[in-house]
Amino acid sequence: MMKKFYYRPEKLTNRSLLEIFPEAAEIIPIKIQEHKIAIQEKEREISSFLKGIYALQADSFSEWFAEEFAKQFILSDLAALDRNLMRLKRFLPIIHPDKYTGEDLSEKIEIARNYPIQEIAQSKLELIPSGKNFRALCPFHNEDSPSLYLYTESNRFYCFGCNQKGDVISLTQALYGIGFVDAVKMLQN
Ligand SMILES: [Zn+2]
Repeated sequence: MMKKFYYRPEKLTNRSLLEIFPEAAEIIPIKIQEHKIAIQEKEREISSFLKGIYALQADSFSEWFAEEFAKQFILSDLAALDRNLMRLKRFLPIIHPDKYTGEDLSEKIEIARNYPIQEIAQSKLELIPSGKNFRALCPFHNEDSPSLYLYTESNRFYCFGCNQKGDVISLTQALYGIGFVDAVKMLQN
């Protein structure tokens, strides 16, 4: 059975956000990379701005004014980027409890996504061939005739009885009662 989550935005932890929105595990490392690049650009912007001011050999008031301007307008962007980067980084130990590397994880997710859905499903469900696809009794609700379809080309499932749908990773999570990261690990071979 699928876990049920209740929408209480103020109570959501990073962990439950990832359970609800498992795709974030892929997006977060990309966002972290984007933030790092944006921070480097900001730092270059600040240093070239200040170099430009010092090169003018302006009076000390102008230099002070330029530094204040940089703090006010450029450094505040930098601080916001830093805060966001920190916020994103706090997801990493949850996404990948072992030593984390971004490339590794997205590679593993990619491998998991391509694990044939019928192979993981047949360990728990009795599959009935249906053209190039398969049918089975839906694990998400009680039924007498199979309405869960496994689509071998898209590697996804859909239940015409309860409308549950998803990919091979979410099916693995449901069949084994495990989280996203464990399902990704399980689908590595
Ligand atoms: Zn169903």
